[in-house]
Amino acid sequence: MALNVYFAAGKDIWPEYRDAIRAASAKRGLAVNLSDSAPDPAAVDYIVYAPTESLSDFGPFTRCKAVLSLWAGVERIAPNPTLTQPLCRMVDDGLTEGMVEWVTGHVLRHHLGMDAHILGQDGVWRHGVKPPLARDRRVTILGLGELGTSCAKALAQLNFPVTGWSRTEKAIEGIACLSGEAGLAEALARADILVTLLPRTAATENLMNAERFACMPMGSFLINPGRGALIDDDALLAALDAGRIAQATLDVFRVEPLPPGHPFWAHPKVTVTPHVAADTRTATAAGVVAENIRRGEAGEPFLYLVDRKLGY
Ligand code: NDP
Repeated sequence: MALNVYFAAGKDIWPEYRDAIRAASAKRGLAVNLSDSAPDPAAVDYIVYAPTESLSDFGPFTRCKAVLSLWAGVERIAPNPTLTQPLCRMVDDGLTEGMVEWVTGHVLRHHLGMDAHILGQDGVWRHGVKPPLARDRRVTILGLGELGTSCAKALAQLNFPVTGWSRTEKAIEGIACLSGEAGLAEALARADILVTLLPRTAATENLMNAERFACMPMGSFLINPGRGALIDDDALLAALDAGRIAQATLDVFRVEPLPPGHPFWAHPKVTVTPHVAADTRTATAAGVVAENIRRGEAGEPFLYLVDRKLGY
């Protein structure tokens, strides 16, 4: 009998995912009855989810074997008390590739001081300043998960000395790995450029506060594609005004879309990008969804299962 898969991830992306998930399921020999509505929640076997949808009560989905998020960040669904089913987050090659490109681009922009030339076309030929080399610019990445590790490796390939920080201890070739509270102070002290790629959880909320910014070198750069709540906005504005942070590129915010009156928009040292760092890519993500359905049916462990206690 066909499996009932309820696509609760947004009407706008439904047509492309419908075809891609069907194809990826067929490739794995799975018969799926995929629908963007669930007239009988008790008959649903799997839910494909994104927080854009209004689905918030998972209680009636009594037969559902897993909720498969199309998003990597699950902070909006993980604390939901009605969710008793296993929750899997998205790890997608396309998304990872996109994040590596976005982070590398913004690191290089700050490292090379590209703005000075792009924005300063004033007819003055300022030759004579040697461009810096990556080997002399230390990058720290907070978060050494799927995305942080890939970005760290790409930046190390370009010769940046890279330090990474995570909750648990890690050993990654070519990356100085630190963990825990003591490790954080050291990681921040090395951050000529800081990239924050942590999930939003109770433990990471406001991680970058005034005390943490004070650990960073004067004139350092901040790039945040993780989550807005990792950063205490007022502390960042103070650090920018004090010159501790020379420039910040922010992709994610506590409130999205970032309200027009928010001081970040007008701040001369802040670049706002509208949560575009990395998007889930339909072709690769559909394969991850189908693979998890296959695993669920075969009694194999799900990929990318969220630890609800940790929140990621
Ligand atoms: P992972 O779950 O793979 O990695 C998370 C990393 O954060 C792990 O290294 C983990 O440590 C570390 N971490 C979590 N909590 C703590 C803590 N309290 N202290 C120290 N380290 C901690 O996530 P991804 O790499 O896939 O994604 C990271 C985040 O990126 C997502 O949660 C999402 O918020 C954001 N994102 C943003 C996008 C955008 O377009 N702007 C797109 C996609 C994702 P450990 O390894 O020890 O468990």
